[in-house]
Amino acid sequence: MRRPLVIGNWKMNGTLASGTELVNSILAGMKAIEADLAVCAPYVYLSELNKVLAGTSLGLGSQNIADQVSGAYTGEVSASMLKEMNCSYALVGHSERRSYYGDTNESVAARYCQALEQDIIPVLCVGETLEEREQGITFKVIDEQLDAVIEKAGIESFAKSVVAYEPVWAIGTGKTATDDQAQEVHQYIRQRFAAQNAEIAENLQILYGGSCKPNNAQALFAMPDIDGGLIGGASLEAESFLAIYNSTQSS
Ligand code: PEP
Repeated sequence: MRRPLVIGNWKMNGTLASGTELVNSILAGMKAIEADLAVCAPYVYLSELNKVLAGTSLGLGSQNIADQVSGAYTGEVSASMLKEMNCSYALVGHSERRSYYGDTNESVAARYCQALEQDIIPVLCVGETLEEREQGITFKVIDEQLDAVIEKAGIESFAKSVVAYEPVWAIGTGKTATDDQAQEVHQYIRQRFAAQNAEIAENLQILYGGSCKPNNAQALFAMPDIDGGLIGGASLEAESFLAIYNSTQSS
């Protein structure tokens, strides 16, 4: 039985004060349910949020992670630095990183490996653009994104990682994949893993991301291969983020 997981991706939003207030509101409203919850905050706020979250069940994560161990990589933040901030999760290969900052399947695979080296759970983001969906190459794109990581890190590494399916056309657009569209790709991903390792596939948490909101979360999470969500906009308010978190229980 896979445990549901909901992760907030704050992106480049807020201030230290608003982020601190947000986690305090989440903590105040967070019920003890059979699901995990975490927030991926901007790097510069991790140190302070780590203090606020110490001893709580709200997890902390980063939005990216360096593809190298240490050294002359100006502007990068290493896995060991994130570990010092008690990050449990690191997003790798978010579509905004891939499209605006040149992350490639190869560099994403390297970031994924760096996270695992420090026992940080990489959240590997995959997904197709609208153009790719219209060309009918959704599964081919997903295959390439997954293969680069499987080849470098091995299929067994997915016992300690999470996959997030985020159709790029649904991120921040208000357009959600229908439950069936999302389920179709989640099922495809799980079957792909199952072809190589049934146990890994069965236990792998696959999150849906892309305009997931309180009004559609429950139906999405009820789909058999959707194990929770990676939430952008709706994670910036405690009420909507918690409503999505609570939706994991009715599925
Ligand atoms: C995201 O960026 O990971 C995301 C899912 O954003 P939104 O929920 O705003 O579409």
